[in-house]
Amino acid sequence: MPWEDHSNFFAGNDLHRLSEKRTNKSLIQSLAKDASSRFILFNDLNPLMEVPADVDPKLIPTKSSGQLAYLKYEDIASLIDLDTNAQSQWVFLGLDETDQVAETGQGRANFAIELQTLDGPSSTTAASFISSLPPTSKFLSVRPHTFRLDARTAAIVGTARAVLEWNQKARFCPSCGRSTVSEESGWKRICRKEVEGEKVCVARKSTQSFTHPRTDNSIIVAIVSADGQRLLLGRKHRAPPKFFSCVAGFQEPGETLEECVRREAKEETGVDLGQIVYHSSQPWPFPSQLMLGFVANVRGSETVRPEEDEFAEARWFTKEEILTALDGAASGKSSFANPDPKSDLVLAPPWAVAHHIIKAWAHNEVVFTERSSEGSRI
Ligand SMILES: [Zn+2]
Repeated sequence: MPWEDHSNFFAGNDLHRLSEKRTNKSLIQSLAKDASSRFILFNDLNPLMEVPADVDPKLIPTKSSGQLAYLKYEDIASLIDLDTNAQSQWVFLGLDETDQVAETGQGRANFAIELQTLDGPSSTTAASFISSLPPTSKFLSVRPHTFRLDARTAAIVGTARAVLEWNQKARFCPSCGRSTVSEESGWKRICRKEVEGEKVCVARKSTQSFTHPRTDNSIIVAIVSADGQRLLLGRKHRAPPKFFSCVAGFQEPGETLEECVRREAKEETGVDLGQIVYHSSQPWPFPSQLMLGFVANVRGSETVRPEEDEFAEARWFTKEEILTALDGAASGKSSFANPDPKSDLVLAPPWAVAHHIIKAWAHNEVVFTERSSEGSRI
């Protein structure tokens, strides 16, 4: 089975990250300058893609309507400074071990660079570079245009976007407000050293002297009835009329994942949860979430009291309704834009973790080892 069938979109970046080598400047610089290495170029967090001349980039992309553009060091040497990481921010992504370089016998090195940084190339240099690109090379937003790509490439682009955006947003030290400098091949930033007479930054006196790229946990949970035959879904106020999805929310400080799942379910729908089963996770680089997907059963009352700010509507759906909607979403016959007129339910497409946690329950792949108590029915 192709892995796209059972993994979440933006997962599957299998580059060998060589994280222990990121401090080895001479190694990373020689990799960057190697003729076999390739660079993914971003402009304001939009990756450079190749789109055939007869494809309108504004249209909803399809798998065959474009591919990622790769550049060599000689193409972008004027835009970066490998010694100081001044000019464009660059990030070493890792070695692609599915793509061996004959001369070295190791995987091809992959890097990413962002043109729009505070210390980046002058607007004239950047504009001149962009204007030199062929007309089929376009900077397109990661969402939705990575859906043109195979899932593995999209995962690499997602990683690059997340780290580049974090570098943009972490330009100032969270402890003292001084500017920070990029270290470790783009994966850390450190508070710039204070000048004489200034108060020493607390970040330079402890193990917290670095800031790292963020990953913010959020949860999403498919809530199952006590009899195991129905699923509780909600529709957001701004969602299309038939589009329902799972309860979701951000994990807060001092909260375990399971506490977060219980809190969000209670707040958004009014139900208490029994057993919580972890399913899978999805990196979501907008800017830096990790969506953790769960399936849980209800404990006690099944009366739904949707939180007004969160959901316009929340209700139980039968397994039959869910299976029909899953088929529609997977086949593309029913989507947000074009719902199936014969169905009252549209579900998330297969690139969303929501689709996979709902599918796992509908296909009886989730096993609750603790029996949920029978609750009152609505
Ligand atoms: Zn500081």
